[in-house]
Amino acid sequence: MIDRAEVVIVGGGIMGASLAFALAGRGVRDVLVLERRTVASGASGKTGALLRQHYSNRPEATLAHLSLQTFKGWGEIVGGSCGYVGCGLIVTVAMTGPDDPNVARMRANVALQRAIGIRAEVLPAAELRRLQPFARFDDIPVAAYEPESGYVDAIAATRGLLDAAVARGARLREGTTVVGLHAAGGRVVGVETSAGPVAAGTVVCAAGAWAAPLLATAGVAVPLEPIRVQVAVVNRPAAMPREGTMAYVDTAAGHFCRDWGANRTLVGLGAGAHEPVDPDRYDERPDPAFAPAALAALARRMPAMAGATPLWGHAGLYDMTPDAHPIIGAAPGVAGLYLCVGFSGAGFKKGPAVGQCLAELIVAGRATTVDLAPFRPERFADDGWREPWSPHEYTLSADFGHKF
Ligand SMILES: Cc1cc2nc3c(=O)[nH]c(=O)nc-3n(C[C@H](O)[C@H](O)[C@H](O)COP(=O)(O)OP(=O)(O)OC[C@H]3O[C@@H](n4cnc5c(N)ncnc54)[C@H](O)[C@@H]3O)c2cc1C
Repeated sequence: MIDRAEVVIVGGGIMGASLAFALAGRGVRDVLVLERRTVASGASGKTGALLRQHYSNRPEATLAHLSLQTFKGWGEIVGGSCGYVGCGLIVTVAMTGPDDPNVARMRANVALQRAIGIRAEVLPAAELRRLQPFARFDDIPVAAYEPESGYVDAIAATRGLLDAAVARGARLREGTTVVGLHAAGGRVVGVETSAGPVAAGTVVCAAGAWAAPLLATAGVAVPLEPIRVQVAVVNRPAAMPREGTMAYVDTAAGHFCRDWGANRTLVGLGAGAHEPVDPDRYDERPDPAFAPAALAALARRMPAMAGATPLWGHAGLYDMTPDAHPIIGAAPGVAGLYLCVGFSGAGFKKGPAVGQCLAELIVAGRATTVDLAPFRPERFADDGWREPWSPHEYTLSADFGHKF
């Protein structure tokens, strides 16, 4: 007997989990999530899971803001806990002084965020220093501050969404690889898996950095480049607070960081630290040189962190698109096939709202919560994607892969 599902979702990361939860919540009866390893074994289990709402473009800021409401209200909306910590988050951008164009851009971007309903402020260095006395801010006149942002437990959140989807009737199969997509007469009719075929009229590819070769089996080309990105967890010296430091997306100093339990910090690097790799053959272990380099960047902001002790780390994948914005929408030329990929190192924070909007598009033909049109796959067919999404995009000194 051929296995069937109404909707097949390829990938058990935050996007597949969130979409399964949203589809099941909209009454789609038979949603099947196929994951080749375990839930959150891709980027969603390797992420820093920092929740930043600071964007220079409205669609992504809105997705991040709506998702934060889900992370904050998790117990009521999803059930259980996603480990949300609203410790506050600081965003820095390199600035030579108060007249640097990035200062005006930051003010404009924070104004945009406030118009969306995001709690955000531009704070002067003296106020930042008062909030975080162990940090120095002598390189920048101002930074953006979001008091409600912070981080979550990424694996708990991804598992939580999938558990809730299953409770609503969805099915999950771990250890099942989708090896190809079946299409006939211009529409998708199912998938081929390591355990045999599954017939489905709707298939969603949420396969992260592994998506491009899979989509090619249906003749769909997506410009995705998997790059390897490392993080380290370190033990803080006693000169630092035991807990309660804010999360930082510190492009001026070249790192991002957050607490990882008491006395521990997770830190990642920007600036040339990323390399394109084959997603099936990359080294998931950190390089020995990574933690010292990450601590050097972190110590530019928090001098005492130069004495931190590296504990462990890992490497994960960003699925980069040419414009560093995600690809969400119907696949061109194959009816019933949808793409939810290319989150370019900044997807976790947007996961809950992306799932909701894509479920609207699949079920009702239109995403109403946030219009997904800017994320359409077709944008790469000509040079249109080179246009900036905002007049206030920053010039960033540290390349984090993703843009703001
Ligand atoms: C080191 C690191 C730090 C990050 N920090 C942040 C951060 O602080 N904040 C933030 O918002 N974002 C961050 N990100 C980015 C964020 O984690 C990702 O954008 C997000 O997790 C992507 O989710 P996804 O579901 O699209 O992909 P993934 O989580 O990669 O999920 C894809 C899944 O598909 C499965 N799969 C692939 N191919 C197949 C197949 N053929 N058949 C079956 N299953 C398949 C994979 O095993 C995987 O589990 C970070 C990423 C990394 C790597």
